[in-house]
Amino acid sequence: ANASRSLCWVDGEWLQGNPPILGPLTHGLWLGSCVFDGARAFEGVMPDLDLHCQRVNASAEALGLRPTKRWQEIVELVREGVARFSGDTALYIKPLYWAEEGGYVSVPPLPESTRFALAIYEAPMLEPTGFSITATSFRRPTIEQAPVNAKAACLYPNSGRAVMEAHAKGFENGVVFDAMGNVAELATANLMLVKDGAVHTPYPNGTFLNGITRQRVIKLLRGAGIEVHERIVTYRDLLEADELFSTGNYSKVTPINRIDDRHLQPGPVAAKARELYWAFAHGQL
Ligand code: PMP
Repeated sequence: ANASRSLCWVDGEWLQGNPPILGPLTHGLWLGSCVFDGARAFEGVMPDLDLHCQRVNASAEALGLRPTKRWQEIVELVREGVARFSGDTALYIKPLYWAEEGGYVSVPPLPESTRFALAIYEAPMLEPTGFSITATSFRRPTIEQAPVNAKAACLYPNSGRAVMEAHAKGFENGVVFDAMGNVAELATANLMLVKDGAVHTPYPNGTFLNGITRQRVIKLLRGAGIEVHERIVTYRDLLEADELFSTGNYSKVTPINRIDDRHLQPGPVAAKARELYWAFAHGQL
């Protein structure tokens, strides 16, 4: 983020840039008790903002933190912050919770030390020109191995490692697998394929984030009469797909134009999914 174009709400104040709020003994920093969410403001709309604010509270609870705000209060705070930017600027909205204390004598966070901050920064919407993907050697953990029921900061070093591996091979993003070796998602977004006019996407088996954008797009596609199958997806299925596209709050619906050495044309179903999302975002669906 360009810190000069960001606003952060911390302890009742709106501050510019990236104000320092942590010390070396902050539990969220040294023992990872930190959760966040991401949402968008663009073209005057904030689709599914309520769901993102609900999810950040659920993520906090999953880690043993105690949310200090009701989700409706977070929605209000987001509206207040977004109003401080000029109306036509696309923004990224990041609420986060972390524990200030805990772990000095035992590892868990101290729930009553939970803190909240909200960062909002300028981030232009990306053109839907498509991006390239490849397989990575990374897998999503199961619930016994990591808090996959939360959008927790501690899950993201693995996403980072997957992206670094994809970059090293000359690709923009990477496919991450589940414990069984089936496709889970991309390092930073969910993944859908199109075959013979129907959409297929990994069944949410608890290892990967069942994204808010993913769930929204599935509803919209089905509402438009397009079949969506949530099922086991293999890497071979991706290689043989007619179209591939990603869903996520940051880039919304984006076509994938290359998997390994196979180039894909942006296809009609991905374009339709994107169109439906924009119509929904603008209250037309
Ligand atoms: N998977 C991962 C690992 C992500 O970080 C994201 C972005 N939050 C997604 C999927 C997409 O989820 P959502 O649509 O809720 O943003």
